[in-house]
Amino acid sequence: MPVNNMIADQADEMRQWRHFLHTHPELAFEEHQTADFIAGKLTEFGIEVHRGMAKTGVIGVIRGKSGGKSGGARTIGLRADMDALPIIEENNFAHKSESDGVMHACGHDGHTTMLLGAAKYLAENRHFDGDVVVIFQPAEENGGGGKVMCDEGLFDQFPIETIWGMHNWPGLDVGKAAIQHGASMAAADGFQITLTGRGGHAAMPHLTADPLYAAASLIQSLQSVISRHLDPLDQAVVSVTQCHGGFTHNVIPDDTFIEGTARYFNPAVGVMIKDRMAHITEQVASAHGCTARFEWIEGYPPTINDAAAADRAALAAADVLGAGSIDMDAPPSMGAEDFSYMLQKRPGAYIWLGAGHPGEGAMLHNAKFDFNDELLPLGASYWVSLVERELG
Ligand SMILES: [Zn+2]
Ligand SMILES: [Zn+2]
Repeated sequence: MPVNNMIADQADEMRQWRHFLHTHPELAFEEHQTADFIAGKLTEFGIEVHRGMAKTGVIGVIRGKSGGKSGGARTIGLRADMDALPIIEENNFAHKSESDGVMHACGHDGHTTMLLGAAKYLAENRHFDGDVVVIFQPAEENGGGGKVMCDEGLFDQFPIETIWGMHNWPGLDVGKAAIQHGASMAAADGFQITLTGRGGHAAMPHLTADPLYAAASLIQSLQSVISRHLDPLDQAVVSVTQCHGGFTHNVIPDDTFIEGTARYFNPAVGVMIKDRMAHITEQVASAHGCTARFEWIEGYPPTINDAAAADRAALAAADVLGAGSIDMDAPPSMGAEDFSYMLQKRPGAYIWLGAGHPGEGAMLHNAKFDFNDELLPLGASYWVSLVERELG
């Protein structure tokens, strides 16, 4: 497995950066110390730094041999996310979070470090033509920092032609990667429903319009969107995740509140789910003498890889991991990712880098999760291989 030699030599240094970031996690749009750390490193590597996009975003521009936009030289963007999660860490190692209730439980500390490691190598060696834009994006977990960067002109200010992302992937062996030719991650929309009836005495339900009874019926009926309205060859899920109503044992309440999420890959499926859910909600509420307020909250769109870019990403990953280690047939994930907004603007690919099989429960977003440091040189080498292939 030919990890780049110079990157292998900086593995210890990268581990120290990663542990520093893990110790100092910050939530969405509050990544000030993280941004300072990244900008400090990029400056130390002699890389041009731009700050302030999407509040805490950091962008570095690494000029290749021929540099700049002249002479038909090309520009590619490599993106890492930098935010943490509101989780109380349950690990006890030396690099445990020092911020109460905030934790790097998705490995964004590792993603940031792998891109920093690649940036250091690329700045020292510059075995490419054109420009590499390294993008450190805030607020992936919450707030859609990827969208904010697009809205604030990431692709206008930097002439990025292709855009590339990576996530560590527990459950996939270390030394393997998976890349989809199309959909990689799902769209994640939300819904909120308030059913309003007429409360009253629990012993005299015939004198009320019971919104709890309507909610029970509605929660079941909403699943018919998936089982009866979705083409069985398409993929989607609807989950009701909250239901609140009532306050004591002998009173039927006036209102009941329901909340949940819908995940899908095909935007037309998203429209169908929303329309069917709105219709069913109104009809079921009406059948029980209630009224309904239905609200749809648009979330991250699906993450769709460009097929040709996915093939090129696979070749770059194979340089590091070996051709037999790249899975191009892995099913996509129902999780969501705001790198999707960048892929809507430019072709590119998002790859999953195998992170091994951590102990039970230590999956992404678990309080015992820790980024696997074995991946640091692999991920950084992938970035370098991708740059030298794309801009070689
Ligand atoms: Zn996450
Ligand atoms: Zn993540």
